[in-house]
Amino acid sequence: MTKFLAEMSYKRQEIKKGYSDKTLHIDLSKLTIEENSVPKKVRDTFIGGKGYDLWLMWESLPKDRIVKWDEPENPLCIASGPLGGTMGYPGAGKSIVTAISPLTNIIIDSNVGGFFGPWMKYSGFDALRIVGKAEEPVVIVIDGVQEKVWIESAGDLPTESHILAEKLNEKYRNIDKETAKDDRLYVSVVSAGPGADNAYFGCLNFSWWDNRRKLNHIKQAGRGGTGTVFRNKNIVAIVAHSISVKLESQNPEDRDTARQVGRKHSSEILKLDPTQNKMRVIGTGHLPSIMSEFDLLPTYNFKYGRDDDGKDKSLWGDKYEKIFTNTGKGWDGCWRGCAINCAHCVEAFELETGPFKGQKVMVDGPEYETIAGCGSNIGIFDPLHVVEINFYCDTYGLDTISFGTATGFVMESYEAGILNKERTGGLDLKFGNFEDTMELMHRIAKGKDEFALIFAKGIKKMKVYFKANYNLSPEQEQFIQDIGMEHKGLEFSEYITKESLAQQGGYGLTLKGPQHDEAWLIFLDMVHNYIPTFENKADALCWFPYWRTWFSLNGLCKLPWNDVVPDDNKETDAPHKVPEHIQNYATLFESITGIPMGKTPEERENSLISRSEKVYQFQRVFQVRLGHGRRIDDSNIPYRAVGPVTFEEYESRMERYDKQLTEILGKSLEEVQQMPFEERHAITRKHREEHYNKLQDVVYKKRGWNHKSGVIKLEKAKEIWPDWLLKEVMPFIKDLQD
Ligand code: SF4
Repeated sequence: MTKFLAEMSYKRQEIKKGYSDKTLHIDLSKLTIEENSVPKKVRDTFIGGKGYDLWLMWESLPKDRIVKWDEPENPLCIASGPLGGTMGYPGAGKSIVTAISPLTNIIIDSNVGGFFGPWMKYSGFDALRIVGKAEEPVVIVIDGVQEKVWIESAGDLPTESHILAEKLNEKYRNIDKETAKDDRLYVSVVSAGPGADNAYFGCLNFSWWDNRRKLNHIKQAGRGGTGTVFRNKNIVAIVAHSISVKLESQNPEDRDTARQVGRKHSSEILKLDPTQNKMRVIGTGHLPSIMSEFDLLPTYNFKYGRDDDGKDKSLWGDKYEKIFTNTGKGWDGCWRGCAINCAHCVEAFELETGPFKGQKVMVDGPEYETIAGCGSNIGIFDPLHVVEINFYCDTYGLDTISFGTATGFVMESYEAGILNKERTGGLDLKFGNFEDTMELMHRIAKGKDEFALIFAKGIKKMKVYFKANYNLSPEQEQFIQDIGMEHKGLEFSEYITKESLAQQGGYGLTLKGPQHDEAWLIFLDMVHNYIPTFENKADALCWFPYWRTWFSLNGLCKLPWNDVVPDDNKETDAPHKVPEHIQNYATLFESITGIPMGKTPEERENSLISRSEKVYQFQRVFQVRLGHGRRIDDSNIPYRAVGPVTFEEYESRMERYDKQLTEILGKSLEEVQQMPFEERHAITRKHREEHYNKLQDVVYKKRGWNHKSGVIKLEKAKEIWPDWLLKEVMPFIKDLQD
């Protein structure tokens, strides 16, 4: 018997020009459910998606104190966007999640596929805000078919995501009595897992139904611990159940143009993908070989950009092409209209370890970040072992990026003698030890082992713990500082940045911590060489974060923008921006929302960028409000991200570093090579750290931020925000001007 704890009936709002103009507010402490209208001024400024999430958080948090991640007031928000749920447009199925992160204590935002955001929108709500904590484990159901939202007791439901998605999809689908046709496709389940109860890097799984394979897939809102916040609120799952949907359900301003631009973009992808990245066959699994070729694939805790013995070849796309279950067998896209179809899976995978050992399961992925983070970065080169790590991370609700990067850190610490079996609870955490890596993960899910629980708090907290408890020498303390790949508390995603100043900025000068989705410049900088000068790199650190914000405002995936590009893209003035696709997005936005974007290509691009900048800069002020978002927070990225930490590392790429010294010092190679090794190593470090600081100065200037404080300048704030918003932010920025 279902035990209902609260219920709200409502009149489902028809979508008009991409918006329902309603938001859903749930308080789990008070067990209240309310719907609110979105004021026009909020819609005009924040657009939707992440913008709405941020505004819902801003207005809900108390202004007189800073709320910590595990307080009931921490709002967990999920939104779609005005373009989210557009049938037939590639990548238009994203949901954007925000909360105060357990890892960073600032706002984290995560952009995730699957159908939840669109199904919630078509059920009548552009965004959802959840505050409070439930007294018992609960499931929240948003049922657009019955026009009801309710909170029910989760009873004895298991929390492992692969089981939960199945059970709840089955429970909440409707079966048409006359045709026996069911609507499983229109049910999406959000869940975390038992690992998220104990780890600060808990992720959220968003499910969707694959009607050809007859199973549920999941995609992750991975970064920053949104799953941890979810479980801390005592939520087991959120379910959205929508009415059936077609393009017309958006009630677009201009349906024909929306359809046309969708068809154009989709047919281009279908034609060009086979000769470009083969996303439809191997997804982002095409990246390890390219990264390895350019010495950018994190290997052994970001020490090297490839395995010099070639072991990383076993993780390349050609291997995963054989492991992934035949694409033609099912639906491999995390949105129904997505021509890229890059979300591949491994069916009937037999598990070697853990509570489901011996069972055959379906595993979604692995994608590039998991292959690199849980493969080469921890010395695991068996592609099937990466699949197993992927499965358990997902079903336990653990972010594969944080898990992989943190495991790399403990493995290097173990090999350097900072950790030993006594300290790790008997685990032999050498690089490449798959069995003990799995044992560590299973211990996190069980939540009993002391070392596993220290590990599960992430690298930043581990560093503090190691220093406080292991009697380290000053050199060892410096060593773990240099090799612990976190910044602002968030673990680095999976790119070697030593030779890419642009990507160092793309990690260090981000709002939320080193996650590549804000400024994925590594490819443009190192593979294509599109941004060769210092000025180019600094400009890119303004334009790309603003542009990439635009996807999360609208409920879109970024991959269709630049993973398959027009044939003649290289011949354009700005191939790094993919100009034709920018115009596609301007057209789509205009045709759905009816908001004019301008006449010339420049006007239309500027119109998109200036809208995004407003929200990007607002998120920075939000971090200031939470006690961060200052210059110091962007400084001091770990030296492993900037240059070679150990002599061994320097020696492995000696020719490169020595040659760079000839340019820095104006000496010949022979003269450089005669210098003591320690001196070469030290000069390289000093030069590289100064270079990063210089980049920070220039980017701050371009973003309109104060040089010393790192907070937005008043004149910039007045230029970009309307008066009502200026009044909101002013108390947090006015005393932080240089
Ligand atoms: S491009 Fe890939 S990740 Fe993006 S929506 Fe399509 S299938 Fe999902």
